[in-house]
Amino acid sequence: CDQREIPKESTNAFSHVKHTIAVVSGKGGVGKSLVTSMLAVLSRRKGYNVGILDADITGPSIPKIFGVHGQATGSDLGINPGRTANDIELMSVNLLLDQEESPVVWRGPVIAGAVKQFWTDVLWGDIDYMFIDMPPGTGDVPLTVFQSIPVDGIIIVTSPQDLVSMIVKKAYNMAKLMEIPVLGIVENMSYVVCPDCGKKIELYGKSQTAKIASELGLPLLGQIPIDPALAELCDAGEFEKMNSHDLDAAMADIEGKLPA
Ligand code: ADP
Repeated sequence: CDQREIPKESTNAFSHVKHTIAVVSGKGGVGKSLVTSMLAVLSRRKGYNVGILDADITGPSIPKIFGVHGQATGSDLGINPGRTANDIELMSVNLLLDQEESPVVWRGPVIAGAVKQFWTDVLWGDIDYMFIDMPPGTGDVPLTVFQSIPVDGIIIVTSPQDLVSMIVKKAYNMAKLMEIPVLGIVENMSYVVCPDCGKKIELYGKSQTAKIASELGLPLLGQIPIDPALAELCDAGEFEKMNSHDLDAAMADIEGKLPA
């Protein structure tokens, strides 16, 4: 199960990708794409060149979050990625489909083949941080995707209601199986702030994530509240306007853990 099947330098000859960070979750709907997008926006604001590789082939949400549609074009040299308003490079299956609503009904190996091409055939520029929005779960598809892209580190996204840690541990064990370092855990949908009194309400009861993170020896990189403004920006394709700084510390932590 060695993920290093694909060497880092197997990108397109015109690409130069320094760091690849995969964002995973034990199940769908916990905000993996939102966290991927947030990390990308924060890194871009720090002045880094950033790319997002949307490896969630059957549930691609990255282009919509950034309001980028149908931009990927091909040439003899490779596939040109899409580009957000603030110059984050993007590749997603949705940039290649005529109809964004068309379902991608592909089997695991075909999905893995497409993701591999997103790595090898896309004309990425000079990228400091490439964030990879992984398919959810810990089954066959995410596993084969891991074998298609060389990943430097993994960030696990979870929500407080994830059945007492079991799902987080599955994601952690998958990373261990792949021999990829886990950079930390991000908890999403941690609480809601009451618009009247400002009190934090923990909708799912007391979060266990900090305890689980320390059991696994991992940092809890950040806790993001449920914030209707974030959901609205996703829906409007204007995520680069987000003003949430819930992951500022996470970015500093990540920078410290990856070689310069
Ligand atoms: P995943 O990638 O894990 O399937 P998404 O990032 O697509 O999950 O999030 C699922 C839905 O929940 C999206 O509509 C997103 O806008 C919304 N969402 C995620 N996190 C938050 C949050 N912290 N506050 C408000 N809405 C959120």
